[in-house]
Amino acid sequence: MFVGVRVVRGPDWKWGDQDGGRGSVGTVVPAESAESAKGVWVRWDAGRKANYRAGGEKGTYDLRIYDNAQQGVKHPNVNCDCCPEEGILGLRWKCLECHDFDLCHSCYNEGKHDLGHRFTRIETNSVPG
Ligand SMILES: [Zn+2]
Ligand SMILES: [Zn+2]
Repeated sequence: MFVGVRVVRGPDWKWGDQDGGRGSVGTVVPAESAESAKGVWVRWDAGRKANYRAGGEKGTYDLRIYDNAQQGVKHPNVNCDCCPEEGILGLRWKCLECHDFDLCHSCYNEGKHDLGHRFTRIETNSVPG
């Protein structure tokens, strides 16, 4: 699991509606300390943040990657036009109707740009430079 990856509840989920309800999406965030670095920390879009099991000895998965295509993909030279993050992690959405307008996946998901516009989905690393 990589920080920035979007996840949904997985096959071993047993935490009720902690994620905000079935189908809710969250983002993997960095652990707050080495102590808590076991498992995976997720901040759900609904607001809650918690630690989950991902693999380990028993192969227990509380989480599932929401969109495989974005795993580990980075666009270091492209900034999202809707949030202050430097560089886009994961899927990049380029608007075909606005000049030089890119969105990160979460801003796209949240409809921060006019989703009536057409977009190209870029799921491979951007070439630096
Ligand atoms: Zn964004
Ligand atoms: Zn647009």
